Amino acid sequence: MSQLNKSLFFLISFFGIISSNAQNEVYKTEAVIADTTFVNLKDYSSDFIYDMKYATEDNFLKAKVYDCAECLLRLKTVKALIAANNDFMKKGFRIKIYDCYRPLSIQKKMWEIVSNPEYVADPKKGSIHNRGGAVDISIVDSNGKEANMGTPFDFFGIKASHNYVQLPKSVLSNRKFLKKIMIKNGFNSFDSEWWHYNLKTGLKDKVSNQKWNCD
Ligand SMILES: [Zn+2]
Repeated sequence: MSQLNKSLFFLISFFGIISSNAQNEVYKTEAVIADTTFVNLKDYSSDFIYDMKYATEDNFLKAKVYDCAECLLRLKTVKALIAANNDFMKKGFRIKIYDCYRPLSIQKKMWEIVSNPEYVADPKKGSIHNRGGAVDISIVDSNGKEANMGTPFDFFGIKASHNYVQLPKSVLSNRKFLKKIMIKNGFNSFDSEWWHYNLKTGLKDKVSNQKWNCD
């Protein structure tokens, strides 16, 4: 082998090792964190405001049904939610979170109190919350003041519907703003609840009944 050939051989081998290592790295990352893995939102962003109602007694169950206020979601839901929040932040707002993943056992408790599929999903079918693809949210301004959405969260009545228009213009425009940004980022709205959004690609994921770590 001539000196030139030896050098070429060395160079090709060297780059061959680098590129195969790079491929392994990519492969490893994808294998460890699939888009459907359940993750904690706070590990991916510190830009959200939390008001996790079911970790308090301030909800329609009148009971604290979550041991702690964590927002668990599938990774793909987290990615879409962060993209939406970035859009809101460009306009001086950010997302306030009321509920994320919800264990199926909690869904059953909710159904016992409100057995109306317009407001609570039948646990036999499972909610998208039980699948890690739904969020209950509002938006707050730079002072932390929540936008007026016309009703509180979990108001089970016609006034909470996107189709109800007998509301002040500012309320309609706040709801429209929330909906527009969420839809742009891969979510569907839910007609009877202004606060509820489903990730479009999360509708068929498996229902889950895990509990999260509160340490
Ligand atoms: Zn919801």
